[in-house]
Amino acid sequence: MKLLIPVKRVIDYNVKVRVKSDGTGVETSNVKMSMNPFDEIAVEEAVRLKEAGKAEEVIAVSLGVAQCQETIRTALAMGADRGIHVASDAHLEPLAVAKLLRALVERESPELVILGKQAIDDDSNQTGQMLAALLDWPQATFASELELGDGTAKVVREIDGGLETIDVNLPAIVTTDLRLNEPRYASLPNIMKAKKKPIDELTPDELGIDITPRLETLKVEEPAKRESGVMVETVAELVDKLKNEARVI
Ligand code: AMP
Repeated sequence: MKLLIPVKRVIDYNVKVRVKSDGTGVETSNVKMSMNPFDEIAVEEAVRLKEAGKAEEVIAVSLGVAQCQETIRTALAMGADRGIHVASDAHLEPLAVAKLLRALVERESPELVILGKQAIDDDSNQTGQMLAALLDWPQATFASELELGDGTAKVVREIDGGLETIDVNLPAIVTTDLRLNEPRYASLPNIMKAKKKPIDELTPDELGIDITPRLETLKVEEPAKRESGVMVETVAELVDKLKNEARVI
């Protein structure tokens, strides 16, 4: 079984994101970038499936600027077998990413594509669902457990009211939630080995996909600052503040 794992290069989750002064987007120059945390979980799950003998090949795919190759190398150091980089300097919206991934699925014929449930930069939570719709494949989003059977996958999903267990026929799309696993750190020997693993280079044109944006960003702004809290001495004082200052009771 072949597994295709899309990994996005995003601003590192420890970085405090700053809005550009002209309000056109967020500052990304001189900012630490890393693999989207949900995609690390996807790579970890795929590598575990391979280690358990349930998958033969794990392919890490990243779409975007040249430095996406570093993100692919991280996936290779975690245990993926090879990489595909679809190079583009343009901003790629989820629909464009889903179309590019569909083209790669058609070339590679994986039985399972495991994506993150969302990218922590745009928080879109769209790509997996769009890819499933484009391919007309079943989808199991927000997975917190994944078990492969014979031609099927059993997925426990995190939903508002609790956990839902579903069976999907393969090939299928799965998106990861936080509790699926704890991704490993790549060891130094594996980082060295990853340097020798192959990464294919493609372009959207070679895949025949139009990536023209469908959305226009009008303005990006910081969320309103929250006022700091105050300590109250007594319940009476709390009630007084709620009544007369916050005016919520
Ligand atoms: P989003 O729909 O933007 O929140 O992204 C959901 C998931 O789609 C991510 O966790 C990745 O697995 C995948 N994805 C989105 N954009 C890219 C990209 N440029 N390269 C590789 N994977 C991506």
